Amino acid sequence: MIKPFFGYAKPKFHYELLSTALPQPLTITVPPKVTLLLPREMGPEPSAALKPGTRVRTGQRLTWDDAPGPSIVSSVTGTIQAIAPQLGDYGRKFTAITIAVDARDEWDDAFGEACAKIDLQTLRDYLTGVPGAPALANLADPRHPIHTIVIYGGDTDLLVDTNLYVLKTQTVMVEKGIHALKEISGVEKVILAVPGESFQNFDGHLEADVRAVSNRYPYGQPLMLFYQLFGRILDQGQTFQSQGVAFMRAEAVASIGRALSDKRVPNEKLLTVLDKQGRKHLVLARIGTPVGTILKALNITLNDRDRLVFGGPMTGTAIYSEEQPIQSDSDAILVQDAADITLSSDYPCINCGECVRVCPSNIAVNMLIRYLENGQYQDGADLYDLYSCVECGLCGYVCSSRTPILQYIKLAKFELARTTPVEEENE
Ligand code: SF4
Ligand code: SF4
Repeated sequence: MIKPFFGYAKPKFHYELLSTALPQPLTITVPPKVTLLLPREMGPEPSAALKPGTRVRTGQRLTWDDAPGPSIVSSVTGTIQAIAPQLGDYGRKFTAITIAVDARDEWDDAFGEACAKIDLQTLRDYLTGVPGAPALANLADPRHPIHTIVIYGGDTDLLVDTNLYVLKTQTVMVEKGIHALKEISGVEKVILAVPGESFQNFDGHLEADVRAVSNRYPYGQPLMLFYQLFGRILDQGQTFQSQGVAFMRAEAVASIGRALSDKRVPNEKLLTVLDKQGRKHLVLARIGTPVGTILKALNITLNDRDRLVFGGPMTGTAIYSEEQPIQSDSDAILVQDAADITLSSDYPCINCGECVRVCPSNIAVNMLIRYLENGQYQDGADLYDLYSCVECGLCGYVCSSRTPILQYIKLAKFELARTTPVEEENE
């Protein structure tokens, strides 16, 4: 049984709309070394193309070997110092490329030359890793033709300003990006979803169907946006892509517009940094910059047991080292003082019902979590609406037993996705 969304307890939080004067972001000085994550497992044999001592230029496409495949574009000019395997969330495998940075950028010309006659494959090869991480691979997959590109002009978590700031300050680049995406991909329908009162500023100016969406949390979560725009939810085995929809963020589309205007691959990521006092800072940093470099520039010091989080307060993921580099999809860094951290626990559920009251999808979270804690993921999906969950994190936020409910839910969906074939047919 799938229950309707929008339950009896309305979420109490709102995204901010940046209605006051927009601050200038602080540009972080390029650090002495950056680390880029190539989205593929490190090969068993050394790579001829990527090895310590190899020189790389800014904007140069780096692959493990000469074969077509996953790539990353260098954000700096310098010399490869180290190549190492790196594990991401849920077992995703990367190859970490650490580059000692030169004082000056020397730009690679290949992308500029390719701009003369650009196609979807070139766009995908060079711009998949630009700020905002556009889902360009999805546009080029013949198994799942895309009929609609949805661009979200807001941010998915609370207190994060990154994408709305880009939409408001780089509207011309967003416009160019939308035009290029339509022309190059052939996708005719583009929806720009804009939170709340920001709506009227964008309607009529862009080659997109501009739709206002609620600025109440968690209406900016992609699964919630899908429901608001298409009136249905994704079921087990379905993905946005299998439904013919590609999601992108405003920053990703602005990066595409800028790349084609400047004929250079953008390499500076905008981030919202939330410090221990709850103050916000907007920063611009080269992709691959260690988190510690950004904190130092903002005079934020970390003490024993303070916590660092990539992302916002509801859905962010803890990171364990200041050496962790920012990547193209790092929208926020949250720094929590040790004294303010609510630790997760393995206390049993006391059946207080808080999670059920707050859940916007009206899920019996207290029952669902019993199955997920015991690894009974399919039963959780069949009996307690796992796939109605929009991954907002509100349940974990209010949980009296401090159970990391969202993490259990994400793990369950990840495990089920590994064993459930994606639907081949579009509706
Ligand atoms: S994360 Fe929790 S509160 Fe949010 S939709 Fe999922 S089950 Fe409901
Ligand atoms: S909020 Fe936590 S303790 Fe309360 S019913 Fe939900 S899972 Fe159980």
